[in-house]
Amino acid sequence: MSADVVKKLRDGIRDVPDFPKKGITFKDITPILKDGDLFRASIGLFLEQCRGKQIDKIVGIDARGFLFGSAVAYALGIGFVPLRKKGRLPYKTESAKYSLEYGEAEMELHIDAIVRGEQVVLIDDLLATGGTSASAAALIKKVGGDLVAAIFLIELEFLNGREKLKPTEIISFLKY
Ligand code: AMP
Repeated sequence: MSADVVKKLRDGIRDVPDFPKKGITFKDITPILKDGDLFRASIGLFLEQCRGKQIDKIVGIDARGFLFGSAVAYALGIGFVPLRKKGRLPYKTESAKYSLEYGEAEMELHIDAIVRGEQVVLIDDLLATGGTSASAAALIKKVGGDLVAAIFLIELEFLNGREKLKPTEIISFLKY
């Protein structure tokens, strides 16, 4: 992982104070997405971490995990599975409630999205308290997936989210 690429990406993150609630500093990744070089560089970091792992599916978390996760799955030539907010998936689902840095939510996964025993990598833009990813990990397990790693562009280390995901391997590129 080149320090130069990491610095460029870090410079591309826009901090938005008091969004979506007072006291939360939102890490806005849209400046990275709208820049072709930066977007490609960010996907390159995820790919570096995926190479050498046996992976059958990428699971992306609604909604920004879709942007990174689907590009990674496409580049690896493997399937992509969306983990969605409640009420958005049309077929039969497994669901789990979780708490966010700024609220409560429920997430769903199609019951047939992952074949029992498949090796799965979870992708999202940001790891904060870990509540979202921990319930994603629980859902992946519930449908029979084997979670081999969780990869995030950004990690808010002061919130200790990685504790909630133990013993899964956690990888992040931009740490705050
Ligand atoms: P958490 O469950 O607390 O780890 O929250 C992670 C999820 O909420 C991810 O899907 C993030 O996209 C989003 N999120 C939480 N905090 C922030 C933040 N400060 N900036 C941007 N996204 C955030």
